[in-house]
Amino acid sequence: MGTLGGKSAVVTGSTSGIGLAYARAFASAGANVVINGFGTPADIEKERSSVERDFKVKAVHSSADRAKSDEIAKMIALGEETFGSADILVNNAGIQFVSPIEEFPPEKWEAIIAINLSSALYAIRAVVPGMKKRGWGRIINTASAHSMVASPFKAAYVSAKHGIAGLTKTAALELATFKITCNCISPGYVWTPLAEKQIPDTMKARKLTREQVIHDVLLQAQPTKEFVTSEQVAALALFLCSDDGAQITGANIPIDGGWTAA
Ligand code: NAD
Repeated sequence: MGTLGGKSAVVTGSTSGIGLAYARAFASAGANVVINGFGTPADIEKERSSVERDFKVKAVHSSADRAKSDEIAKMIALGEETFGSADILVNNAGIQFVSPIEEFPPEKWEAIIAINLSSALYAIRAVVPGMKKRGWGRIINTASAHSMVASPFKAAYVSAKHGIAGLTKTAALELATFKITCNCISPGYVWTPLAEKQIPDTMKARKLTREQVIHDVLLQAQPTKEFVTSEQVAALALFLCSDDGAQITGANIPIDGGWTAA
């Protein structure tokens, strides 16, 4: 049995990118997982079944929309009812929109704050009673280097990510005596569909070519000049869920090729 054998993890936004890497990392350590996020039924089933096949654990999919608080509560309940507990929660689903501040569409602002920030509170609120009862829990929020520093044209994203760093500290303090930790992982640029999708808008906003956006905007901020991988982010999450991670709480841990050291 792996180090997380007998435990279960709910990972939001795990049909793709970093979230899928978290789900696979927890499963590799023996945890059952609730996968959440959008995609075609065939694509979701492919990922879900490969988690079960590759790691000999159980995986279920929740189609909960992170913009809706009632659906988030049902996603946590699905984990508890299917596996008997929701021991690990990763608030990871996120969206991005790039625009000059004076043109920032209010509906995009509302959606980013809802999905990237408010949803984390709703999930934490739903998962904590069970964690307290069992006397163990790990909550990880995927923040971003943008929880520590800003970039132009990302008003809503930067605001939501700074917000989730504050929520993380508050939850950590409230839960510290219950053996429940709450931390942020703050990646720099990770090569995922989210990173790729913002290239066209950044090309438009900054009047640059695709190559210029990749090298002069995205990797410009990252001293190593390399993208972070989803697997590296997931390995950090796995450490936070280990016994050795028990005293790390309220932290905002960068994994950003040196970006926020500058
Ligand atoms: P991604 O686009 O590859 O995956 C996003 C996931 O969220 C998908 O599974 C998608 O279906 C899901 N999702 C989107 N809206 C949702 C909603 N309303 N309800 C439920 N699920 C929803 O993105 P990614 O790059 O893997 O990003 C994951 C997290 O990492 C985000 O919070 C993002 O802000 C953060 N992050 C990414 C980078 C990067 O460079 N890729 C850097 C720093 C932080």
